[in-house]
Amino acid sequence: MSELSVNEKSWIDRQIRHEENERYMVDGRDFVDEGLIWTELEKQRDPDPARVRDIIAKSLSLKRLEPSETAALLNCTDEDLWQEMHGAGLKVKQSVYGRRIVFFAPLYVSNYCVNNCQYCGFRRENRSVVRGCLSDDDLKEEILALIRLGHKRLVMVYGEHPSTDADFIAHTIRLAYTVKDAGGEIRRANVNAAPLCVGDYRKLKEVGIGTYQVFQETYHHETYARAHPAGTLKGDMQWRLYALHRAQEAGIDDVAMGTLFGLFDCRFEVMAMLLHTMDLERCFGGVGPHTISVPRLEPAVNTPFLDNPKFSVPDDLFRKIVTVIRLSVPYTGLILTAREPAAVRRDLIPLGITQIDAGSNIGIKGYSDGHVIGDRQQFMLSDNRTLDEVVGELSKMGMITSFCTADYRCGRTGGCFMSLSKDGKIQNFCMPNAILTFAEYLEDFASPGVREEGWKLVEREIGSLGDESTRRIVEDYLARIRAGERDLYL
Ligand code: SAM
Ligand code: SF4
Repeated sequence: MSELSVNEKSWIDRQIRHEENERYMVDGRDFVDEGLIWTELEKQRDPDPARVRDIIAKSLSLKRLEPSETAALLNCTDEDLWQEMHGAGLKVKQSVYGRRIVFFAPLYVSNYCVNNCQYCGFRRENRSVVRGCLSDDDLKEEILALIRLGHKRLVMVYGEHPSTDADFIAHTIRLAYTVKDAGGEIRRANVNAAPLCVGDYRKLKEVGIGTYQVFQETYHHETYARAHPAGTLKGDMQWRLYALHRAQEAGIDDVAMGTLFGLFDCRFEVMAMLLHTMDLERCFGGVGPHTISVPRLEPAVNTPFLDNPKFSVPDDLFRKIVTVIRLSVPYTGLILTAREPAAVRRDLIPLGITQIDAGSNIGIKGYSDGHVIGDRQQFMLSDNRTLDEVVGELSKMGMITSFCTADYRCGRTGGCFMSLSKDGKIQNFCMPNAILTFAEYLEDFASPGVREEGWKLVEREIGSLGDESTRRIVEDYLARIRAGERDLYL
């Protein structure tokens, strides 16, 4: 696996088109202004409590923060103020998203990769990982297994390789939507794949991609170069920095970013994600990221790069970082995956997380084989509870599990989704739809205890729906769901 073939080399040479980045760069420079980041972090030291409270108030009015404001929050040392910020994070989330958590399932389609990212178990030079790519039949089996657990949304994940190019990704998305089972189907296929050119993104748009997700890993130029060796595709930092711009240019409305925490100074990364958000807003009429992910570096098979304690993010700092992101970009969704242990997820979800996975398997063929597969995994997952267990726990915490995909299917994406989110109006649709998909789950997939607890929560939530007419529609739809109808939404 370590030597590149002639075919791989010539494919790599054809991927990057610098001219597609250049139209977004200003005076030939990318948006990660490291000088500005360090200057703001230095200037905003020891922020005055009154100023911190003003910034919190701005977030509560659902306005995106400026770099100086985010830097002030990151520099706060007063623990009481941090408590206020944590509380504000939850309020922001509730006013945009309500008491619901959207669930998705990661589906690893292929782990062949031409890159050599030093932290990743799938890197080309790692001979300890077993390689695989799902055939059409494998893919259908994996999706059936997921549908039978109750999933409706996927994040399909791919290594970067000629065998999994844009045509292949498009083919697999199309196939994912064709798989049906008595209990349901996949209604939204999101993708996490390496950067593509505009023409290739159009192919994904044509087959109905949901969100396109790519994590920058680190925004720090020097660290990026160390973690992604020169001469590899991923070694071209700007090709990755402008991936979401190109995807939006191709018409993919919902784009998603993330940083791999643990590679560099986490305060720098938060500031850089804000600059990324602002640059997307600048170029695309105010439309920033649909979601932000906050993965932390996890151990991977035969992958020693991880041992840099200088930048590791301990749990207490991670809470703060998540809170600052929540407050800095109030309109965006925030994703916390099963990389994190159950206790950390329990603690962080109330700070403003909007999407999680559960019952995940990140090995190739992991769901249909039905067990955790160490040497086919990219890294190790920490929260190995089943979907039903996590749904049950969230019910007890008063949170509705949503499998809703109605926004995407009704065209409430991109600018439309964003303006509804910014006004706090998206939950007029989302909460009723979350309740309806939760009810479907309870009827079709939940264990008896979770079903009982869940229906009690549904009854309570109906009572708190804003207007009378929406409540009546939801009650009517719930009766129809109990009678066996499916896929009802507003
Ligand atoms: N290959 C594509 C890419 O690199 O963009 C997409 C899929 S990659 C499998 C998805 C993400 O996994 C990466 O963007 C990276 O942030 C994350 N990842 C890689 N190694 C990891 C590790 N050891 N711990 C946690 N996350 C990791
Ligand atoms: Fe390949 Fe993605 Fe892993 Fe890098 S992070 S080695 S590109 S799968």
